[in-house]
Amino acid sequence: MIELTGVHKSFGSIEVLRGVDLSAKAGTVTVILGPSGSGKSTLLRCINHLEKVDRGTVRVDGELIGYRQNGNRLHELSERQILKQRARIGFVFQNFNLFPHLTALQNVAEAQISALRRTTSQAYEKAHELLELVDLWDRAGAYPRQLSGGQQQRVAIARALALDPKLILFDEPTSALDPELVGEVLDVLRDLAARGTTMIVVTHEIGFAREAADTVVFMDDGRIVERGRPDQVLDNPQHERTRAFLSKVL
Ligand code: ADP
Ligand code: MG
Repeated sequence: MIELTGVHKSFGSIEVLRGVDLSAKAGTVTVILGPSGSGKSTLLRCINHLEKVDRGTVRVDGELIGYRQNGNRLHELSERQILKQRARIGFVFQNFNLFPHLTALQNVAEAQISALRRTTSQAYEKAHELLELVDLWDRAGAYPRQLSGGQQQRVAIARALALDPKLILFDEPTSALDPELVGEVLDVLRDLAARGTTMIVVTHEIGFAREAADTVVFMDDGRIVERGRPDQVLDNPQHERTRAFLSKVL
C-alpha cells in the first residue's frame, strides 16, 4: 500500500529526513515513535504530498506520488492527480482542525460534497453512520466548541473516514487531550485497526503500539533507527537511542 524509498527532505539548510525507507501493507497498522523534532510529522506530510520530497520515491497504492533522484525530477503526478490522491488519504491532526462554524454532522458531511461530489442526502446519511461508529450519534448537532477534546477528535476521525480513505495518517492524535480523554480516542483507533483500516500512527502511547501495531518504527534525527514487531522494538530494542527514548516514555 505504501512504499517510500530513500526519502530526503530539507528545510533550508536543515536536513529533516535523511533517507527514509518505509513500507506498509494494506490492512496493517504502523506506529511511528520518536523524539520531538525527529521528522515524524514531516514524513506523514510527504506521504500525502503536503510536502514535496527532495529526493526518493513515494508510492501509495501503486501510484507514484513523487519521484526524484539526485535532485532530478524523473516523474511526477500532475497537481490534479495529487489532489485526487490526497483526497483518499485521511489525515488526523493533533489539534482536531474541525471547522468551528459547522456542526459535528456538517463537519463529517462537508468534504464528501465538495471533494467527492456526493449528494447532500448521501453525505448526511454517511455522516450519521460514521458518528454512530465513533459513538457520537447523539452529538451530531453540536458545534466543536460544545464538544470535549476527545469528542472533537472522534468527529475528526469520522470526517477522515467519510472520504473512504485507502489509508489514514494520524499525527499524535491524543497529544492535545486531557489524560482522561485519551482512552476514548484510542478505543476508536483500536476499533479501526480491528476492521483492517490501513493506518500510520505517530504517537507516544506505547500501550496502544503494543496492542494494535503490526510494525513499530523508531525515528531519530531524520532516520529510521529501528523497526520490527511491537515486542521486538518495545521489549528488546537493539539500539541505544531506542532504549534511551523508551526509558523516558514508558
Ligand atoms: P516531529 O514531528 O518528529 O516532532 P517535525 O517533522 O515536525 O518533527 O520536524 C522536524 C524538524 O523540521 C524540526 O526541526 C522542525 O523545526 C523542522 N521543520 C518542520 N517543518 C518545517 C518547515 N515548514 N519549515 C522549516 N522547518 C521545519
Ligand atoms: Mg510532529
